[in-house]
Amino acid sequence: MHYIDEQKIHELLTAAAASSVEDAGRILAKARTLTRLTLAETATLLSVRNPQTINDIYQTASFVKDAIYGRRVVMFAPMYITSFCSNRCVYCAFTADNNITRRHLSIDDIRRETVGLLNSGHKRILVVAGEEPSGVDFYIEAIKAIYGVRAGNNAVKRININCAPVAVDDFLKLKAAGIGTFQIFQETYHEQTYRQVHPAGTSKHDPDNRLDAVDRAFAAGIDDIGVGVLYGLYDWRFDTLAMLMHVEAMEQRHGVGPHTISVPRLEPAAGIDFFEKTPYKVSDEDFKRIVAVLRLSVPYTGIILSTREEPAMRDAVINLGVSQISAASCTTPGGYTDADGDAVAGQFKTSDHRSLNEMVSVLIGHNNIPSFCAACYRKERTGAAFMALAKPGAIKTMCNVNALITLKEYLEDFASPEVRRTGYELIRRYQNDLPPEEQRILEKMFTAIDAGARDQYV
Ligand code: SAM
Ligand code: SF4
Repeated sequence: MHYIDEQKIHELLTAAAASSVEDAGRILAKARTLTRLTLAETATLLSVRNPQTINDIYQTASFVKDAIYGRRVVMFAPMYITSFCSNRCVYCAFTADNNITRRHLSIDDIRRETVGLLNSGHKRILVVAGEEPSGVDFYIEAIKAIYGVRAGNNAVKRININCAPVAVDDFLKLKAAGIGTFQIFQETYHEQTYRQVHPAGTSKHDPDNRLDAVDRAFAAGIDDIGVGVLYGLYDWRFDTLAMLMHVEAMEQRHGVGPHTISVPRLEPAAGIDFFEKTPYKVSDEDFKRIVAVLRLSVPYTGIILSTREEPAMRDAVINLGVSQISAASCTTPGGYTDADGDAVAGQFKTSDHRSLNEMVSVLIGHNNIPSFCAACYRKERTGAAFMALAKPGAIKTMCNVNALITLKEYLEDFASPEVRRTGYELIRRYQNDLPPEEQRILEKMFTAIDAGARDQYV
């Protein structure tokens, strides 16, 4: 695989296994200065087994997350637009030869799903699709339809997409349609395993085509890229380190790393027994370590957590460095609004079924600020421009102000009375901590919201 030196990864992990508690302590002290870690340092943190050091890793990750992003957690929902797929990924319910009931949404279906999501309070959507012949034209029709929906005062602010890795011309069309992040998970960076779990199919059987998709997206001007490993396909230490090697290659080639890293953990999928068979399942403790070490290794990259995880695990890892979460998600095309769609299969089992209102309440209870903000994307603070703000710590205040604005809008329009009460208490606490100039800006925005304005941001 391009950019991935498997031999070097094995050497780093072997050397890291011999590192001491003191080595780990020095690395954690460096991480507290919000400095990016080397691959060797990251390998040490992935390898230590001393319980106190592991606890120190968690504490440091929590510190770094707060120092860079503040307490905001951005909320989004996936929208699956088709479960037809011509690829043969052995772990996914949508794999081509799996005998499940499938659905390709019509544009009207997509509009109805958008209204359903907007009416629950969502503002950011991740479009998700299998790979099918209608390809990029269908993605673009879907994006246009979603951006075109109005539900009262509300509209979708940002659409990210996780779809087939297309050609540069098609990426140009996606960019013109207004996508935010293009997400593409390498699934595993271990070449032999990659080839085993993607034995055939239209595009996905070639690991280099998938890696090169990142370069094609950059070539088309899409500079917010989301990468990820599907944890459970191969050894989690190897794959985490390999993904960070890919990040280094992106930084060298494009001057900027990924905007986000996702941490999907393998789940059972309808009609597929891969989950039961894999020897590489990741334990809860190891999963926490992955999130915390990623936060320390690439402090300026967003980390995305999905509803694949159980509520207790979600609540535990959010404070270890997660900056974006999905909430009240459905992995079935049409699943948000189609009461008769039970026969249609989802992509995999989700485990956190709490409503958006409940999730907002949980975050508030943990002193996090639920955020529905898309200001950076609208103000073209993407790619290197975003990183230039994130690195000196300037993004934190801006994020907190925008998070508080969007939270107030949510509380006014969608929250239950109890969540509204606790939400306003949280707003008051954070408002008082802001610098005077930001307090004035916030007051102005709040007055506008009280007068009926929506979609305010700085
Ligand atoms: N079809 C496109 C692709 O594979 O790149 C885009 C979307 S795919 C529907 C989104 C992601 O779901 C995949 O990249 C994979 O990591 C994840 N996924 C597939 N099967 C899964 C399973 N059984 N459990 C958890 N995540 C899974
Ligand atoms: Fe298709 Fe993506 Fe599922 Fe693979 S993971 S079968 S490409 S939907």
